[in-house]
Amino acid sequence: MTPSPNPPPLDPALVRLLQVVAVAANESTSLEGALRTCLQAVCEHTGWAAGHALLVQPGGELASADVWHAADPARTREFHAALHATPANGDALAARVARAGEPAWITDLSAGHAALAEAAARAGLHAAAAFPIRVGHETAGVLEFFFGQAPAPQPGLLEVMLSVGTQVGRVIERARAEEALRSSEAKFAGIISISSDAIVSVDEDQRIIFYNRGAENTFGYTADEVMGERLEMLLPEGSRARHEGQVREFGASPVPARRMGERGQITGRRKSGEIFPADASISKLDLGGRRIYTAVLRDVTERVQAEEALARQAEELARSNAELEQFAYVASHDLQEPLRMVASYTQLLARRYGDRLDQDAHEFIGYAVDGVQRMQALISDLLAYSRVGSRGGTMERTELEAVLRRSLEALRTAIEESGAEITHDPLPPVTGDAVQLGQVLQNLVANAVKFRGDGQPRVHVGARRAGGEWVISVRDNGIGIAPEYAQRIFVIFQRLHTRAEYPGTGIGLSICKKIVERHGGRIWVESPPEGGSVFYFTLPATGEAE
Ligand code: ADP
Repeated sequence: MTPSPNPPPLDPALVRLLQVVAVAANESTSLEGALRTCLQAVCEHTGWAAGHALLVQPGGELASADVWHAADPARTREFHAALHATPANGDALAARVARAGEPAWITDLSAGHAALAEAAARAGLHAAAAFPIRVGHETAGVLEFFFGQAPAPQPGLLEVMLSVGTQVGRVIERARAEEALRSSEAKFAGIISISSDAIVSVDEDQRIIFYNRGAENTFGYTADEVMGERLEMLLPEGSRARHEGQVREFGASPVPARRMGERGQITGRRKSGEIFPADASISKLDLGGRRIYTAVLRDVTERVQAEEALARQAEELARSNAELEQFAYVASHDLQEPLRMVASYTQLLARRYGDRLDQDAHEFIGYAVDGVQRMQALISDLLAYSRVGSRGGTMERTELEAVLRRSLEALRTAIEESGAEITHDPLPPVTGDAVQLGQVLQNLVANAVKFRGDGQPRVHVGARRAGGEWVISVRDNGIGIAPEYAQRIFVIFQRLHTRAEYPGTGIGLSICKKIVERHGGRIWVESPPEGGSVFYFTLPATGEAE
């Protein structure tokens, strides 16, 4: 309705009506109460006989809100009962208003629903008006009024009634918001109560105002025992002052939530007095002018124990490894001396008494010398193996290409004798121990030449960048390795052949593995379909070496 340019003054009764309704809408604690107050106020201020409220249900249909007011209840009782018995969609006026969202009138109730019309006539009610209850653009219900005869047009009445509808709409809106809040609170409370984490809220004085079931299980106190008490009771004595300081500092900081302490720093105290390590985070919230701190805390005793056990094991392992290496080093070092003596005296025997010994004796001396040499090779390889961890050099920028060159130099005789052709890709600079990387390449190339097949040995050293690492490969066209032995050959002393077939100690690849792993890489072998073998190892590609 557009107000006319000079609206006539509002009837003071209507102004009072508006005030009453506005107060009722603001103060009502229930929708039903607000509806009742409004119906009564409208009837009293207009002199209308009766009022009835209907609400649009969640499914969209209109239904009586069972709120009714009559100026003379005795006279309208029968009509009220008839109205109650009529389905809302039979109440044509209310249904029309609900659909259109606009006020509507009927001046002749006798034309409507038969039972209703008869009861209305008996109660002396002949006309009705209905107004929408609006929540925004939505029609949430209808206020319906009955009277003896259509009231005389009254300036501003329609606007006032529309305003009444809007005020009631506000109550509905509020009721809906409260319902949504209640259900979300219920959901939230449900989550909090089943959480196995301890959730404890305190006010500014550090008094406990919330304590969930997880907290009961963690601390051993029931909620009744701690509510209103100071948080201190859940903290070990030694950490109370520090904790207070931390909370104060957090309270002053701009962040709304943070993790508390570093690992192992946060501890809690159970009712039994037991102190336990915890992971915790804290958040703050200003609620109704009060500051509330909430800590979510998890007992990590088991995890800390497991970590400690792991650390102990790792330490023990490192110590026993170091001891073993030390033992291998000392043993191999000390074994060399008596062995040299056996070798030199055996050789002396052969030289000095050679002409007095027969053929068999020379043969036996030969075996003894061979045994000594093998033992020497074993010992020196074992020594090399034990030195990888304990006597490793520093990790520094190393030109792999130069390393390969030196390794090939060391293998020159073997390469020349076998007629092997050695090729290689450009090799990258890496970060590593040049001497040890040289050992790896030398062992792999030596094996590639040693385990050759019938044709000319061809060996290719390749390099390929894969993500954050370099993959170095040594490919040969030799006798190959059955896939089932691919793992075993990296284990110390594991060989696939007799010494008569191929000489060796079975230590070379285990040294390679140890060195590569010390550099943070992996080593493995593959058997390509065209024969031969390809040994791969990776080295982390450091920023500088890229
Ligand atoms: P060694 O060479 O002293 O026997 P390694 O540890 O270097 O010891 O090698 C272990 C075993 O792996 C070798 O005995 C051999 O059976 C196998 N192997 C190593 N490299 C090759 C290769 N390039 N081709 C075929 N077999 C190989």
